[in-house]
Amino acid sequence: MTDLADTRWLELYPDAVVIVDSGGVIVHANAMCERQLGWPPQALCGQLVECLVPQRAGHHARLRDAYLAHPSERPMSRDLELGARHRDGREVPVDIALRPFDVGGLRFVMVAIRDVTASRQAQNRVRLLSQAIDAASHGVLITDAGGLIVQVNPALCAMTGYAATELIGARPSLLKSGRHPEAFYARLWDTLRSGKTWRGEIINRRKDGSEYCEDQTITPVRDLQGQVSHYIAIKLDVTARVQAERELKSARDELAQRVAEIERLHEQLREQAIRCPLTQLYNRRWFDETLPRELARALAIGETLCLAILDLDHFKALNDSHGHATGDRALAEFGRLLLSECGPGDIACRYGGEEFALVMIGVTMADGVRRLDALRGRCANLPLSAATGPITLRFSAGVAECQPREPAMELFARADAALYAAKRAGRDRAVPALPRIGR
Ligand code: GH3
Ligand code: MG
Ligand code: MG
Repeated sequence: MTDLADTRWLELYPDAVVIVDSGGVIVHANAMCERQLGWPPQALCGQLVECLVPQRAGHHARLRDAYLAHPSERPMSRDLELGARHRDGREVPVDIALRPFDVGGLRFVMVAIRDVTASRQAQNRVRLLSQAIDAASHGVLITDAGGLIVQVNPALCAMTGYAATELIGARPSLLKSGRHPEAFYARLWDTLRSGKTWRGEIINRRKDGSEYCEDQTITPVRDLQGQVSHYIAIKLDVTARVQAERELKSARDELAQRVAEIERLHEQLREQAIRCPLTQLYNRRWFDETLPRELARALAIGETLCLAILDLDHFKALNDSHGHATGDRALAEFGRLLLSECGPGDIACRYGGEEFALVMIGVTMADGVRRLDALRGRCANLPLSAATGPITLRFSAGVAECQPREPAMELFARADAALYAAKRAGRDRAVPALPRIGR
């Protein structure tokens, strides 16, 4: 070992330290060389410093000569990504500081070698995560605790139309569309300040002024002391989805409107198909369908059912003397009267021109005749008039009560026969039908 002054102070260094002479020969090494690089100090002394240089730097001897010709102090630098060769051959990531000095006219360089494996690994992890963020298809925006943007990724720039340089240092409110009330943002900040993640959809504005909708998750990040140091926002542009949903909803609403309209028209058509427009009573078609059904139902449960057939008296004469329009008015008035007299168990129909049928469910013959007589009284009092003066409308009726197993046609025939009898007996009366014969 060259006789340098006392070199024990080198043991105080936290780094591996070697002293190299002007020929590149190591003349001194401290104990850290063994801990960090596997070389006991005495094994290093006398060797060229290149034994510590990774093989990939084959031109090191030239660099060393150039340096020794113009030596200067060089502090530790983390940017150079240097490596040192461990005695076992592997490369150790290091930082290196150089300090030249002269002793007795001879030049030496003190080389401090610091193992930076841990920080280099951390750096690599950070680089990897950064690359992952840059490659993400979601927009990423990171602000500091004060809300200033400190990092964005290319997807966010593409989404907003802003360059990273325009966003960094600005506030996310740069993207505000004005579509949300202040209370919306107040709730967002309440969530974040309470340390929770906020998730929702926000309408924002791009640099070109157009609006877009983003599905956003904002998460507060805490430092080692537990203080919020950053907010990370991850955003997905869902404008197309929201637009499609809106269109779907409006198509659905329109369809619902159309369906309602169709149902209304359908109901109207159904009513038109079963009602007489002049009197609003059910028509013959409805009567022909309904009588057999109601009769079968009543007979099946042992309920009484009365059928009355009504025919206006001398109606032809009314038409002849007062005109067809007056006849129509009389028919309409009579229809209104019949409807107003109907209870929930009654079915009133205009069976023919001036002929009507009234199905009375749960009504006996006696009650049926009584109701018809009462109706006749109200009919005669209908406030009808023609140019020549008031008109009195009257009708005759036959009333039949259903009998066990009686078909609708027979019930109808009996009521019709009773009507005929009423006409023959002088009109303006309700006549009970004869019972079925021989059954
Ligand atoms: P009766 O007492 O015997 O029943 O005599 P009537 O004149 O009422 O009977 P008829 O069967 O001879 O005449 C019925 C009349 O009803 C003939 C027809 O012009 C009239 N009529 C039928 N439908 C309508 C209608 O919708 N409007 C008008 N104004 N008249 C009608
Ligand atoms: Mg008639
Ligand atoms: Mg008649």
